[in-house]
Amino acid sequence: MPLERKDVDQKYKWDLSVIYSDISAFNADYKLAEEKIAAFPRHEKTMTAGAEQLYSAIRDMYDIEELIEKLWHYASLHFSVDTSDNFYQALSAKVRSLAVKADGATWFVTPYILKLEDGKALAWITEYPKLETFRRFIEKTLREKPHTLSDECEKLMSGLGNCLGSHDEIRSIFANSDMRFGKIRDDEGKSVELTDANYGIYLRSADRRVRCAAFRMMYKTYGQFANTFATVLDGRIKEETTLAKTRKHKDSLTASTYKDEVTPEIYNSLIKAVEAGLAPLYDYYELKREVLGVDKLHLYDVYAPLVSELNTTYSYEEAVDEVLETVKIYGDEYYENLRAGLTERGWVDVYPTRGKRGGAFSSGGPGTEPYILLNYNGNYDDISTLAHEAGHSMHTWFSTHYNEPHNSSYRIFVAEVASTVNELLLAHRKLRECKSDEEKLYILNQLMETYKGTLYRQTMFASFEKKIHALCEKGEPLTAEVLNKQYYRLVKKYFGKDVACDKQIALEWARIPHFFSCFYVYKYATCISAASAIVKRIETEGAEYVGKYIDFLKCGDSKSPLDSLLVAGIDMRDPAVVTDAIEDFASSVAQFREIYSKKH
Ligand SMILES: [Zn+2]
Repeated sequence: MPLERKDVDQKYKWDLSVIYSDISAFNADYKLAEEKIAAFPRHEKTMTAGAEQLYSAIRDMYDIEELIEKLWHYASLHFSVDTSDNFYQALSAKVRSLAVKADGATWFVTPYILKLEDGKALAWITEYPKLETFRRFIEKTLREKPHTLSDECEKLMSGLGNCLGSHDEIRSIFANSDMRFGKIRDDEGKSVELTDANYGIYLRSADRRVRCAAFRMMYKTYGQFANTFATVLDGRIKEETTLAKTRKHKDSLTASTYKDEVTPEIYNSLIKAVEAGLAPLYDYYELKREVLGVDKLHLYDVYAPLVSELNTTYSYEEAVDEVLETVKIYGDEYYENLRAGLTERGWVDVYPTRGKRGGAFSSGGPGTEPYILLNYNGNYDDISTLAHEAGHSMHTWFSTHYNEPHNSSYRIFVAEVASTVNELLLAHRKLRECKSDEEKLYILNQLMETYKGTLYRQTMFASFEKKIHALCEKGEPLTAEVLNKQYYRLVKKYFGKDVACDKQIALEWARIPHFFSCFYVYKYATCISAASAIVKRIETEGAEYVGKYIDFLKCGDSKSPLDSLLVAGIDMRDPAVVTDAIEDFASSVAQFREIYSKKH
């Protein structure tokens, strides 16, 4: 039975009173936001009249946005610790509709800036220094100029917005509500209903019969609907490629990376570097084969655990100590603020309680603490999760303390860097310090799985996306047959000749919802690569390098993601960044093999 919230000591719950002391303080800000939204349309006539007027419009727009963000954190964080609480559910909905109103009221800011004569907005910054603080916003807006259409077309596009983007929803409703996967026998021989949600559990079963049954049943079902999935995916990709062309981008990959403020070269160089470093991955599968003791490794074996769960459990206080010990290397400012956050300032909601959201996340911004939600159970993975979320929170902390609010929220392209750096540093430190082989094997297994899942698998996905978008752009219909062929070709490449590539895997593309978010997943792979390169420099150069890393955390959104990584000395155009991650993975495989063979 999960704990009741009222039975948990306050010191293990987050302190949201920092955002608003009570609901009346929330209501006062809500009212203020409503008034500001109502008054905003007055800028429509004036904002392009001069530098001061432009400043005033952008200032008001950001004031509204900051209020809404604060209101949102208060309502949504309260709701996430008790999802049965109707009061906070309604409060969250209220903030969401306020945000829609704000969008409606401020719609003209971007198009009006784009309409200014070339160079005018930037000249105004020089003329009126108060505008300097919005330089990044203005420059980001102006980047869109070559991709903006006539007023009439923009109106049409915004009207079409409502009908586009439904493919993902069709896919997920079909896969999650309508599809039935049938029954398999579990580890105890009991007949159980297979679902997309429990598939992972059976694939990780120690019993090969169960893994194989789940695998076959899953793809038998997907196979029956392959044409439907292919048609929906084809529709989604046609939509993306057409929109890219309409907005005068070379292709959909260029359009997507442009949005991330990176380039197709970075995308392509990731794929190239990872595919040049597949040998350690093949070696990992060979290690898996040896440890599992099978003649040939099948695709239903690759998630089987190599080590059993550790028996050690850790109190939350011990987990905090482990994380703090790991971050000592960053110096006092990082250490002290994280220590205070985790132990005194109520950043963390620690234990699972009835109605609380599952998993873990970090959430916060200007005007709030960088809160962390955990479902802490006391095993090693939970320490690793705390280190990860603390990385997000400290990235937010530095971003908000060293930038004005509107320049503080870092981009998705770098969002998983600070969290992964912490996770890797913790694993490396534990490997150096722990005495027991069992514990070392466990940590190495976790590291290897992280690299396999985040670096290799996401890059394989990225490579698949690139291929199918290119086919679509050449006018080739993406039928189930085409998708299966392209996917299977990549699986064979990424698993190598020694793994038995069961033909059913060709259908896996149908199970991956991320392909509907077009060119999203490569960011997981670039983030772990950047993180790995940073960890290597922290470990070899120490304090001399750490300052650069902290300066990166301070960038927030004051610079483009590539420029902020350069502050940390990481050049994403250099394939060596990816190579560092591959080396760390290869070294984990070698260490695992060494310890394992000593014992067997
Ligand atoms: Zn994360």
